[in-house]
Amino acid sequence: MDCLFCKIIAGEIPSAKVFENEKVFAFRDINPQAPVHVLIVPRAHIACADEITASNSEAVAAVFEAVPAVAAAEGLKNGYRIVNNCGADACQSVKHIHFHLLGGKQLSEKMD
Ligand code: AMP
Ligand code: ZN
Repeated sequence: MDCLFCKIIAGEIPSAKVFENEKVFAFRDINPQAPVHVLIVPRAHIACADEITASNSEAVAAVFEAVPAVAAAEGLKNGYRIVNNCGADACQSVKHIHFHLLGGKQLSEKMD
């Protein structure tokens, strides 16, 4: 499968890894939009939120179970935002589900 994030997870394309376990891989966004901008992704390829099912949702749960450890490692003591873009209207550019962890500054109240 020609998927950028599958290749990053496999180590075929370099990334700045910040966390990994059996089900989850997290690395720094190459174009950060906040002082901390980490992408947390399941190792399992799920294209987008629209494709979450009862059979694969444990991979998504594993992402959220990893959030506190990643946030703590990044020093996000004062909060953070998690964003998922799904589909064209949300400008999803990589079709492997991923969760943006943003923080390290006061974020905008606006989310669109
Ligand atoms: P989205 O627009 O929600 O699909 O987010 C995709 C994100 O992947 C963007 O924020 C990009 O900056 C980021 N990105 C693209 N290529 C890479 C890469 N090779 N390493 C790290 N982040 C990347
Ligand atoms: Zn993939």
